[in-house]
This record gives sequence, C-alpha cells and structure tokens, in this order.
Amino acid sequence: MHRVNAYVGLGANVGDARATLTAAEHVLAALPGVRLRGVSDLYATRPVGVTDQPGFLNAVVALSVPADPDAETAALALLIGLKEIERAFGRQRRGRWGPRELDLDLLVFGRHRLHVERPPDARSADGSKGPAGLWLTVPHPEAHQRLFVLAPLSDLARWLSPPGWGETVDTARARQEVIEGPDAVRPIGRWDGSEWTASA
Ligand code: ATP
Ligand code: MG
Ligand code: MG
Repeated sequence: MHRVNAYVGLGANVGDARATLTAAEHVLAALPGVRLRGVSDLYATRPVGVTDQPGFLNAVVALSVPADPDAETAALALLIGLKEIERAFGRQRRGRWGPRELDLDLLVFGRHRLHVERPPDARSADGSKGPAGLWLTVPHPEAHQRLFVLAPLSDLARWLSPPGWGETVDTARARQEVIEGPDAVRPIGRWDGSEWTASA
C-alpha cells in the first residue's frame, strides 16, 4: 500500500475552540487508515480576510495516509473526511473566511500537486450545490502567505519545501512574520499526547 505524509490545518473561533480542536485532532487520528505523526503547538491568531470577528485558535497535524488507488482519489477521500468532521462539530455555512466552529484544510499531500473540480451540478462535500461544489487544490493555495498556517506547520516540518513553493516552510514563515507583525500569531499551548497544555 502506498502512503503519503499529509498536513492538515485546523482552525476555530466559535464556541469552545480549544475543546473543539482537541476533539477534532483525536477524530482525525482515528480516520480509517490514518496514522498520526505529529501535532503542532496551539496558536492564538488574529483573523485574516474578514477581520471583524473573534480571534482564532489554529494548529496543524502531520498524518500518514493511504494514497491508493491514486493520489487524486485518496486526497479527495481525505477532503470528504475533513468536511464530515467539520459538519459533525457543528460547522454552519457562513461563507468563506467568516467565523466557524471548525475549519479543516488539506495543506500538503506528499509531493502531489492536485487540482480537482467536480461537475457544477453535483453536490459538494458540505451539502451545497452549484459552482462552489467539491473542489480541491493541493498544496493549499493560500498556505504560503498565512502565518496562522506557517507557524504551526513549521513546528512539524520547517525544512519541508512543498511542491510549487520554491522555498521551505521556515523561510516562508520568517518572511510572513515580518509582513504580519509580532502580534499576529502567538503560541499558547504544547501538545502532550492528548491535549494542549499551557506553554510557559
Ligand atoms: P480557505 O480555503 O481560503 O482557507 P475556507 O477554509 O474558509 O477558505 P471552506 O468554506 O472551508 O473555505 O471550503 C470551501 C471549499 O474549498 C470546500 O468546499 C473545498 O471543496 C474547497 N477546497 C479546495 N481546496 C481545499 C483544500 N486544500 N483544503 C480544504 N478545502 C479545499
Ligand atoms: Mg481555511
Ligand atoms: Mg476550509
């Protein structure tokens, strides 16, 4: 069986975000065929895009996932799993970048670059219809310019150079830290194997 190392970004800013991310992390690790390889620190982050909303908590997990029968199918299966978990944790549809109970984004899927779109009349992974149907771009197209992704990703894979980036995660993080400023992203917890505990 082929396997790949995948990275998933977690975010939440509605309800008990810390409890949600902790439980979601356990559920992710329990997805069929998935092995947990690492969990980043927990970060308190400033909202990006829609700035008039509560602050977020963010983290990244490193997974080993099956890549059969082919990378595209396996990545879509993982995306559908992520969307299912979002829904199970009460994610409401409020539009992109707005407040959310849980956001799970597929950041990196091994060395694969994928762009998949389903027919527009098909139902999307989150139950909606229309042009916003199920689609997937990997690596996640915004990841390299979001400090709330780069900081936790660099905890796990600072030397990783995702396909198409032309730079390492750590280089991107350092650049983005200058752009976003020192208060954008703040580490507040360290994963102890079952939860994030306050970091000194
Ligand atoms: P962003 O993707 O910019 O962080 P978002 O997370 O708020 O925005 P969602 O509402 O969670 O966006 O997802 C919108 C759609 O994005 C999903 O239905 C999914 O099909 C699609 N999508 C495309 N690429 C990815 C990816 N790499 N990870 C997660 N979803 C993706
Ligand atoms: Mg997102
Ligand atoms: Mg998302």
